[in-house]
Amino acid sequence: MDVYLSMFGPLAHGESPEQTASKLNDAGANNLLFFTSLYHSYRVLQPRYPQRAIYSLETDRLFFPPDLSLYKESPIKPEQSRDFPDGSYFSRLITACHAQKISFAALVPICAGDRLAPAFPEFAVQNLYGAHDRMFFCYNNPAVRAYRFSMIRDLLAHYPIDRLTLDKIPQTMLEQYSQTAIFDPPLRTVGSFCFCDSCKKAARKHDLDLDEVKARSLEIAARSLRIPQHVITAQGDKLTGDTEIPLLLLEEPLLYRMLKFRFDTAVEFVRDVRSIIAEMRPGIPLQAAFVPPSHPGHDMTAPRAWLTVQSYKLYAGVLDEILCVVHFGPDVVRFETERAVAAAEGKTKVISSMRLYGATRPEEVPLLAEQALAGGSEGVSFLGYDVTTDELLASLGRWVRQRR
Ligand SMILES: [Zn+2]
Repeated sequence: MDVYLSMFGPLAHGESPEQTASKLNDAGANNLLFFTSLYHSYRVLQPRYPQRAIYSLETDRLFFPPDLSLYKESPIKPEQSRDFPDGSYFSRLITACHAQKISFAALVPICAGDRLAPAFPEFAVQNLYGAHDRMFFCYNNPAVRAYRFSMIRDLLAHYPIDRLTLDKIPQTMLEQYSQTAIFDPPLRTVGSFCFCDSCKKAARKHDLDLDEVKARSLEIAARSLRIPQHVITAQGDKLTGDTEIPLLLLEEPLLYRMLKFRFDTAVEFVRDVRSIIAEMRPGIPLQAAFVPPSHPGHDMTAPRAWLTVQSYKLYAGVLDEILCVVHFGPDVVRFETERAVAAAEGKTKVISSMRLYGATRPEEVPLLAEQALAGGSEGVSFLGYDVTTDELLASLGRWVRQRR
């Protein structure tokens, strides 16, 4: 059974790679999911590392020394971490994990990057009003593809990683609440589309005219904008979309085709990653971290599967494994795992990824893990080794030993 623990980079402050690998082993982990860079400067609490107990994640800087010769075709050049300049750490951690029989999965964020996206607005998602997104790159943009493909080649060429994990595949998806008012469901839908030149070009190949989609999207958005904000705000949580969105897609086939185009091109992107693996390291599994099918994801953008172009079914041919990231209680874990496994139809391995921090109680860890397995998850994944407590790690370790 796969048991994953994750790390937001080299955040085990003061621990040697060997000590970290040994403690991962004690906690029952046989896989480490290692974030090779972060897309957002989340502030995290690290109770087990009092010397750095409150720490803001470094954004868009690599935790391994990039081989710049591999980024010649990329207008975006990678930068190495400033907080963790030790270029040997990454290799040493892989070696230490392998010595403990722990597999090493290298996670690469794909579309999100909130230091780089504002620095390169020409490569970012462009919404129906021509505004550039400040977090999401467009995966149809050749520069974005070159940057991430170079990074993936870099990892595959120089490090004996056992898995490649893609994170943040989406172009963009509007959250339910903006800083100032609610995005109602139709506005959230059309406001999430990218109309950049690269998408326009790609859409032509899919027999879709993005100028036509944009014109109709603007009309639909205008309907939402006409309603006073206080009226929309008063509807609050009821505006989740299940009442309006299916009808919108039936009434507006152009929007349905636009959503399909987003999915099709995202799957093509992942297929291209798969080709790189086939050429460089055939056989290593390709996995992706997805939000759960029914609940919004737990991160700052509260993503939902259908807007983030994440589908447990549509990626079956291009992904070996999907991490269903469901950071809530045991019932939600059970529900979402069942949904994800059903959608994947046995063609892709689904592993539920749960929360080993914050509201999770030590006595809840076995319950979460059992509900994931009962829902059909092939193993369990917990985030994360570097932000959790000794109590939670011990609880996981006990459950794993009792299960094996
Ligand atoms: Zn685009």
